[in-house]
Amino acid sequence: MDKKQKPETLCVQAGWQPANGEPRVLPIVQSTTFKYASSEQMGRLFDLEESGYFYTRLQNPTNDAVAAKINALEGGVAAMLTSSGQAANHYALFNICQAGDHLVSATSIYGGTYNLFAVTMKKQGVEVSFVDQDASEAEIARAFKSNTKALFGETISNTGLKVLDIEKFARIAHKQGVPLIVDNTFATPVNCRPFEWGADIVTHSTSKYMDGHATSIGGAVVDSGNFDWEAQAAKFPGLTAPDDSYHGLVYTKNFGKAAYITKATVQLMRDLGSVPSPHNSFLLNLGMETLHLRVPRHCANALEMARYLQKHPKVAWVNYPDLTGDRYHDLAAKYLPKGSCGVLTFGLKGGRAEAVNFMDRLRLVAIVTHVADARSSVLHPASHTHRQLTEAQLKEAGIPHDLIRFSVGIEHIDDLISDVEQALTD
Ligand SMILES: *Cc1c(COP(=O)(O)O)cnc(C)c1O
Repeated sequence: MDKKQKPETLCVQAGWQPANGEPRVLPIVQSTTFKYASSEQMGRLFDLEESGYFYTRLQNPTNDAVAAKINALEGGVAAMLTSSGQAANHYALFNICQAGDHLVSATSIYGGTYNLFAVTMKKQGVEVSFVDQDASEAEIARAFKSNTKALFGETISNTGLKVLDIEKFARIAHKQGVPLIVDNTFATPVNCRPFEWGADIVTHSTSKYMDGHATSIGGAVVDSGNFDWEAQAAKFPGLTAPDDSYHGLVYTKNFGKAAYITKATVQLMRDLGSVPSPHNSFLLNLGMETLHLRVPRHCANALEMARYLQKHPKVAWVNYPDLTGDRYHDLAAKYLPKGSCGVLTFGLKGGRAEAVNFMDRLRLVAIVTHVADARSSVLHPASHTHRQLTEAQLKEAGIPHDLIRFSVGIEHIDDLISDVEQALTD
């Protein structure tokens, strides 16, 4: 696919390229396995000496076409789909670290990713240090150790709505000889392409805007192909030293710029197996065909809603990066000039009790544990996703007890504002 094509065209047409007489629409190859004429050829596939499909846990034509679309949109060398965003972030990091290693991450990240780092990867022997993403380069650099293998952050953090200074993070990571991994879920490649600012690996929860219709949990890992693993060979033996499970193959030697993503597919996916179903990938692809139309509408609606809320006498505060005066407005103007995302957060005067009352009165806007799909929704983290936390812990997590997360959909803004208006009226 021609990388010079515009994102709009890539959303619609990248990925599946039918040959003469093949289906125009991406086919769902709902098959675990693939047939070969000779056992010798099958053997070559297992040794990675020949490329071809043999088992869907490793590769499937439907999944690969959708991965190719995401890769084209991000401008990378190759991508891999996973069965969830959680799996995408786990694989992205675990692909280059092991027990005894260390990672540095921004503190303001998705709660599920925070748990993955602080609980589960810790049990796997990988320690994660969390840093304030707005701290100085020198301060963030102090979190690095000789065994640090990556720096991680989110383009727009879920739920903090902090905009990452990607260039700053890339500088810090590269000075330390490690890649920068950026979760680009909220921005999507329509609004930001982190590789253009120096990120090395991009991850996604495709369950959000990419799918856009809340039908399928999914994720993706995209490799820019830009990080020089050989230059840091001692740090990344998994990529630069022989893999015994493939007769001593060396990923950087055999696959060059695609070393990282090939290893993620043929080793991690082979062994851990969080593969999406081809049917879910088909739905994801269908969603992405309109990503470029939906994202600007989400942003326009969210900005109008943020401005409405800001003026409402019952509203105590509003966070939305595109609002003039927002803490992250300057970073948003640099990295997200077309708009940030459809999610905003706000607090009501009267705090927690008032937040719960307001939400219960909403009619069109639904209370759901999801964000970033076509339908508008709200969530009160202190009562839902973070309900086990004390007020002090909530504060530490950057989630005030009165915070309402509002995922503004693509309905007509007048109807959304009317619903909010009536819910704020006693
Ligand atoms: C939702 C989300 C995830 C996790 O993705 P799932 O598809 O729910 O597993 C990771 N990162 C961000 C930023 C998210 O919003």
